[in-house]
Amino acid sequence: MTIRIGIMGYGNLGRGIENAIHDNPDMQLQAVFTRRNPDNVKIRTAGVPVVEAKDIEKWTDKIDVLVLAGGSATDLPKQTPRYAEMFNVIDTFDTHANIPQHFAEVDEAARANGKAAMISVGWDPGLFSLARLFGNCILPNGSDYTFWGKGVSQGHSDAIRRINGVKNAKQYTCPVESAITAVRNGENPVLTTRQKHTRECYVVLEEGADAAYVENQIKTMPNYFDEYDTTVHFISEEEFNRNHQGLAHGGFVFRSGTTGVNGEHNHVMEFNLKLDSNPEFTAHVVLAYARAVARLAAEKSFGCKTVFDIAPAYLSPLSGEELRKKML
Ligand code: NDP
Repeated sequence: MTIRIGIMGYGNLGRGIENAIHDNPDMQLQAVFTRRNPDNVKIRTAGVPVVEAKDIEKWTDKIDVLVLAGGSATDLPKQTPRYAEMFNVIDTFDTHANIPQHFAEVDEAARANGKAAMISVGWDPGLFSLARLFGNCILPNGSDYTFWGKGVSQGHSDAIRRINGVKNAKQYTCPVESAITAVRNGENPVLTTRQKHTRECYVVLEEGADAAYVENQIKTMPNYFDEYDTTVHFISEEEFNRNHQGLAHGGFVFRSGTTGVNGEHNHVMEFNLKLDSNPEFTAHVVLAYARAVARLAAEKSFGCKTVFDIAPAYLSPLSGEELRKKML
């Protein structure tokens, strides 16, 4: 069976989904939907239409799974429940604190309309969530550690760009190597926020802007920077464009715990990702789970699910028999 995919929203992730479809022979791109003028949105795949989002209702019987590739801040909270009324859907919603509410809204819309839905698919939330769950279930006596980076934090970069005098900015979250080593060695350290990550900022100033003022605004910004050791580098626009356009990211999830009558044996579980392109990797995770969504819909298993609810075999194009032979 070929799974017919639609993409709603054509940013970094939308482009990543389009490319990833080329690597999954059981999938086919049907259409890309955008809120912008479709004439201004050029896609890579020849022969596939770019359609204005308001016309999406005409596509309900032509798409098996609609991938919602909008932003978590304002797009997905509206788009996913709305389109779950018409399509089987999947999204990458990553505002952790709001996942329960988002889940409830998508679940209600999908159930009421006989659709399968998944939210918060990707690497965090997503694969990292699974690593945390495995760690907690397997080592009930233990501690969790998640480190992110080195990678760009979009939210922190945006916050710097809002400061007076800043023309452009990128913020990298970096894990503290000595903390990772201590966790990896099974030392079970108690780590403060400051001891786990540092923040590196690359800033292009407007002409005549006060660098000392900008640096102070960054370093003392509540919730974003005040709890971290932050380094600010002022660079030229040319250097910014040359060295800071990448979308690399990654991180580590550890569970360190003990077993034995007196807890005498220590175990460390580690899952780590080193990603050259955050959106491209995320897109590949999403498509593996889109396969699961298509299967859930075929089984009439409606409503919303997360990575916790999906059996791993549902991600694979291989049959159960082939999987047992090749991968067990
Ligand atoms: P982008 O900002 O690149 O795209 C978001 C939306 O912006 C697009 O869908 C597009 O919608 C719209 N847009 C408006 N103008 C433009 C333009 N000129 N060029 C491109 N897009 C435009 O976000 P990303 O694709 O990088 O990320 C999407 C979300 O994915 C993030 O908000 C994040 O929450 C999530 N994510 C989750 C991860 C996880 O592990 N769970 C990992 C990585 C990302 P339209 O075409 O309708 O205008």
